[in-house]
Amino acid sequence: MSVLKRMMRVSNRSLLAFIFFFSLSSSCLYFVYVAPGIDYPEGNNSSDYLVQTTTYLPENFTYSPYLPCPEKLPYMRGFLNVNVSEISFDEIHQLFSKDLDIEPGGHWRPKDCKPRWKVAVLIPFRNRHEHLPIFFLHLIPMLQKQRLEFAFYVIEQTGTQPFNRAMLFNVGFKEAMKDSVWDCVIFHDVDHLPENDRNYYGCGEMPRHFAAKLDKYMYILPYKEFFGGVSGLTVEQFKKINGFPNAFWGWGGEDDDLWNRVHYAGYNVTRPEGDLGKYKSIPHHHRGEVQFLGRYKLLRYSKERQYIDGLNNLIYTPKILVDRLYTNISVNLMPELAPIEEY
Ligand code: UDP
Ligand code: MN
Repeated sequence: MSVLKRMMRVSNRSLLAFIFFFSLSSSCLYFVYVAPGIDYPEGNNSSDYLVQTTTYLPENFTYSPYLPCPEKLPYMRGFLNVNVSEISFDEIHQLFSKDLDIEPGGHWRPKDCKPRWKVAVLIPFRNRHEHLPIFFLHLIPMLQKQRLEFAFYVIEQTGTQPFNRAMLFNVGFKEAMKDSVWDCVIFHDVDHLPENDRNYYGCGEMPRHFAAKLDKYMYILPYKEFFGGVSGLTVEQFKKINGFPNAFWGWGGEDDDLWNRVHYAGYNVTRPEGDLGKYKSIPHHHRGEVQFLGRYKLLRYSKERQYIDGLNNLIYTPKILVDRLYTNISVNLMPELAPIEEY
């Protein structure tokens, strides 16, 4: 079944009822009619709140601290001007220093409404220092506009082993869970910047692939099962699939394995519609990174490996530093940390 059909099936199942939402703004009363076709029809935690709209709310919309934040907010205007020029950490610290609502670790929550999702953003990292400030400069205002609660976890690989993006995500997931109560987790490459602020970083009934259209792939999905760059799962979904595989050392394959895991667990993947899923990538060179040639073999055994390699066989010792804008989790990864019989 095509991705499009799957998405339609999800949205057809969306809201059956007509829901009216009353919002008292400064001088007038709004009626917002809610009909089928909404992007996130049945988020886990959205059943108790029904403030969902088909169109973006007007500028003079009045928030209520007692009501859930809507998903289609006035300041989400669509196309973003993405600036990839280098900026220093000092400069962005300075820029965000005026925002006293940002707590250590970059933890922010909206005050004018109840966040619909509590989102942990995980960023796998090694030696891309110039990318991080650009990333925060771009993502913080976007997530604030989306009225999500969020914090950032940068999981930094130390040691001499090949880069292991998937294992870093597993470590980040476990640490984020110890840190706070999150219900949605975004797995985010440091060099991917969303070009559209209507690409809503909440979760849903199905795992989501956010980075559907990359500039470096001429804004075309490279293949139907592509699940790389930026993806998101609820905490429950991620636990159910036993996280990422730990055995992918070097570049490639771990995102395809995640796709397999998601489907073996009975989920489908949704993607943002149209231009919402456009991303700009910060140009980078592959500095001595190795391709993971064993990926094809491992991918053939995705199903057999799913419940013996993942969140459940991983032991590690992290070093944690809480910065003002993110939590840095550094960890020396080695194959022995995720013991598994040969596959
Ligand atoms: N990454 C990193 N350092 C590395 C390799 C990868 O920080 O040496 C992280 C970074 O978040 C990056 C992601 O892993 O965006 C994916 O790696 P890469 O950008 O090399 O993959 P590609 O863009 O070629 O798919
Ligand atoms: Mn990249």
